[in-house]
Amino acid sequence: MAKLIDGKYISTQIKDEVKEKVKLLKEQGKEICLAVIQVGEDPASSVYVRNKKRACEYVGIESLAYELPEQTTEEELLALVEDLNKNEKVNGILVQLPLPEQIDEDKIIRAISPDKDVDGFHPESVGRLCIGEAGFLPCTPAGIIELLKRSNVEIDGKECVIVGRSNIVGKPMSLLLLRENGTVTVAHSHTKNLKEITRRADILVVAIGKPRFITVDYVKEGAVVIDVGIHRDENNHLCGDVDFEQVKEKASAITPVPGGVGPMTISMLMSNCAAAADK
Ligand code: NDP
Repeated sequence: MAKLIDGKYISTQIKDEVKEKVKLLKEQGKEICLAVIQVGEDPASSVYVRNKKRACEYVGIESLAYELPEQTTEEELLALVEDLNKNEKVNGILVQLPLPEQIDEDKIIRAISPDKDVDGFHPESVGRLCIGEAGFLPCTPAGIIELLKRSNVEIDGKECVIVGRSNIVGKPMSLLLLRENGTVTVAHSHTKNLKEITRRADILVVAIGKPRFITVDYVKEGAVVIDVGIHRDENNHLCGDVDFEQVKEKASAITPVPGGVGPMTISMLMSNCAAAADK
């Protein structure tokens, strides 16, 4: 049976490290402040925003909450982002996605100052990641690298397969694993013979967005399996993109859902905020 990769424990470890760093920064007279903008009242977004505020309180970062109505226009949101870019007190700006359809997400992401881009979604941050320059890393894939390293999973020279190529998970994940000297393959909805490809993986990262899609026959004996997906099943239980019950019998290590990748995303956000204040 696979070893469980405990994201809850590792994320608390990281938050405690950030808390120490924040304390040191404050001793040097640096205040740290994250602005969190939510447009509309999407219930899932409200949960994420609440958890981010709680994490800020835990590590000692001030958070400013902007809760804007669903009908907010693109111009109004751009004006707020511009104000926050100029506000010297604010180190990080986070716009909770998805945004209502009248607002162009890409335009908003580009409007955030790259120095305050703690989500790591701005094209400048993405470009830096691509060419190996220091910059803000997107939180979910950066959290997965931490999970692997802190669970003593060697990446160097390993066959890494990522299923999913989104801008927030799959693509940056491939660049980060490459940076760690993994041999990386990215699969997506046009990939032929997916099972053959995933069965090559020493490290399999799954970010498809389909509940329990990856069954035991997609996995090599002894693989390390990282499940990014989050869903509610027919019984209202949380589950991932991986069929955990089956796959845990074949993998050497696996992340559970909940308690795997999920908690890491917020811890890495806190880490990015501390880094922004330290610039
Ligand atoms: P997207 O929907 O943006 O991307 C899904 C990817 O999976 C696409 O690249 C798509 O391919 C690929 N895909 C879909 N179906 C198949 C298939 N049958 N075979 C192979 N590839 C397929 O999702 P995200 O990356 O944003 O998120 C993925 C999951 O992770 C979701 O469940 C989301 O909720 C969760 N998530 C969790 C986070 C956390 O903190 N734990 C953070 C972010 C996301 P194509 O590009 O060809 O369409």
